[in-house]
Amino acid sequence: MMKINKERLQSTFEKLLTANGISGNEDETINVVLDLIKDIPLFVKENASIDETKRNLFLKLENRGGSKTPSILLSAHLDTVESTEKIKYQLKNGKYTTDGNTILGSDDKAGVAAIIECLMSIHESNKPHPEIQVAFTVEEEVGLVGAYNYDFSLITSKRGIVIDSDGKPGTIMYAGPSQYLFDVDITGVSAHAGMTPENGKSAILYASQCISKIPFGRIDHETTTNVGTIKGGKANNIVADKCHVDGEIRSHNHVKINLINDQIKSIFLDGNKTGFKVEYKSIEKYSAFELNTKTEFMMLLTSQAKKLNLDVHFKVCGGGCDANIFNNRIKNMECVNFACGMTDVHTHKESIYLSDIEKITELITSICTK
Ligand SMILES: [Zn+2]
Repeated sequence: MMKINKERLQSTFEKLLTANGISGNEDETINVVLDLIKDIPLFVKENASIDETKRNLFLKLENRGGSKTPSILLSAHLDTVESTEKIKYQLKNGKYTTDGNTILGSDDKAGVAAIIECLMSIHESNKPHPEIQVAFTVEEEVGLVGAYNYDFSLITSKRGIVIDSDGKPGTIMYAGPSQYLFDVDITGVSAHAGMTPENGKSAILYASQCISKIPFGRIDHETTTNVGTIKGGKANNIVADKCHVDGEIRSHNHVKINLINDQIKSIFLDGNKTGFKVEYKSIEKYSAFELNTKTEFMMLLTSQAKKLNLDVHFKVCGGGCDANIFNNRIKNMECVNFACGMTDVHTHKESIYLSDIEKITELITSICTK
């Protein structure tokens, strides 16, 4: 089993923790990453995006020793959901937390640290290894924007591991849902609410009537919907002529998501028959994936996890992650999402055990040198 350098891993993780990198402002984190990897003989491509303002990183470590193992893609995201500018992290009883005033940012700096230590220890060893490609993405937390804009001409691997999930190392996400976003613009007729309300047609009233009719919340074991925001109206004494509704639909079943989208759309568009002007737009944010868990790659993942005495579980992701985009956009890609021990992510209670960061690093390192 390949040895990793645990002290260096800890130091890498802590350097990343103190780099501030809210979505869209990842420069500080990127600079720390570029500094950490400067002694590894990597091919480095900055701004690895179709839209070059997105500072995705692409790294490649060439195959060594004629390894016959196919190229592997490792991936994690660089951004955090909130600023960590004022972070005060602590390590107590083996567990990282903050003082409660900020998030920790182990989502996804645990993944970034694991990948960097994996590259370092593989480079130092004399072991043969396949070509290792790395995609560090930006703006994951605001809707997989970095992955969405990634320059996929750079990625030739057909086997991928994203490290970006809560749960214990050994948990492998092999499926994820589709997500549709919808937004609705409703225009009615304004009128004075006290003097001539009968001359008005309230866009707010119509929106609320529609929302009460649409399938809402948990629809079934694999499908959910939500209306997230409503905006409209100008003042108490004016019948509102404008209302805007934003929502989402998620499902692991692509057919269902289309059916529900059609249903919601027709409920809103009915207003066009009764004097409202309604526009309904929906976009597919990402689509579902479900990988075969019996392939050679899956066997490799499970056998290496078992060698490290990890409990291996295949699980379905509740939300979208960069693996959705990789599986959607790269032909014949098998990309899983590995749990790495992060808990209470996106809250100020976020925590992670150092031992879990070590385990996930050992796991990817042993997979890459098998
Ligand atoms: Zn994440």
